Amino acid sequence: MILALAGGVGAARFLRGLVRVVDPTSVTAVVNTADDDRFHGLCVSPDLDTVTYTLAGAEHPEQGWGLADETFTVMDSLDRFGADTWFRLGDRDLATHLYRTRRLDEGATLTEVTAEITTAWGIATTILPMSDDRVATRVTVSRDGGRREVLAMQEWFVRERANPPVVAVEFAGAEAARPGPNVLALIAAADIVLVCPSNPVISIGPILAVPGIREALVARRDRVVGVSPIISGAPVKGPADRLMGPLGIEVSCVGVARTYAEFCGTLVIDAGDAGRAAEVNAAGVRAVVADTLMTDARVAAAVAQHTLDAVA
Ligand code: GDP
Ligand code: CA
Repeated sequence: MILALAGGVGAARFLRGLVRVVDPTSVTAVVNTADDDRFHGLCVSPDLDTVTYTLAGAEHPEQGWGLADETFTVMDSLDRFGADTWFRLGDRDLATHLYRTRRLDEGATLTEVTAEITTAWGIATTILPMSDDRVATRVTVSRDGGRREVLAMQEWFVRERANPPVVAVEFAGAEAARPGPNVLALIAAADIVLVCPSNPVISIGPILAVPGIREALVARRDRVVGVSPIISGAPVKGPADRLMGPLGIEVSCVGVARTYAEFCGTLVIDAGDAGRAAEVNAAGVRAVVADTLMTDARVAAAVAQHTLDAVA
């Protein structure tokens, strides 16, 4: 059994490759839920949905969120009322959030609802929220003149386009959160634990902040292998650099290695970063060099195979 820690797009692309090279039913993805929030009264779980839609082959090909061939009639109609629509939800995507919200209101757990949604999409891989308890990423930013303000993750990332400089990041509710049912047992039992190429601060960070998960990973360190989301000193996509820098993490595969060193024995770094392998090794993490830019599902499958081979 392969267990994968996952954020959104980077993880989804990697997982789509992974299920081409191993039996999809042998894979369990534990997904970040600290980006979850309510919009228009609906419970939205961006990373769970990105992984779900991508494994279903229904994701929007470029956007990085939502479904392909989506329409926005509801959002456009809300504009009539002057409602806040900076967080765009497509018409078909809205069905997911309507369903999730109703089931949670009925008392189902997020783990249960996620299983219902992934089954409905015909996904053979198990997708688990990191926790059924609410954890929320909060980004403290510095405004002009130095005033500090705390923003919800989506306010910073979507509404303000990740522009305000970041001073601090916290995961509200994490200390009291419990790992999702089975998450710790699956980490303990997995043959291999993968850390997908995801944002180290706001995708993998919240998973590690749920009490018990980091310790469970440390115990499996020899079987934990990560893929660096940073190639040649920059993220492939997304704001990882705007979060790592201010938090004192070098924006490089070496910075990722240092951040993961306690629980991750091996890190796959891109061929373009081969010159930094010695520094990754010096951080106590075995560097494995491979092409890691996932331009399509075939390439992603090759990246996944390299990653598995790294701990074979
Ligand atoms: P988000 O919630 O959509 O931002 O999702 P993630 O945290 O999973 O993904 C963002 C991270 O994935 C970024 O740091 C990217 O650099 C990384 N990423 C995206 N595509 C690729 C790729 O093809 N190769 C590698 N190595 N990293 C990637
Ligand atoms: Ca995310």
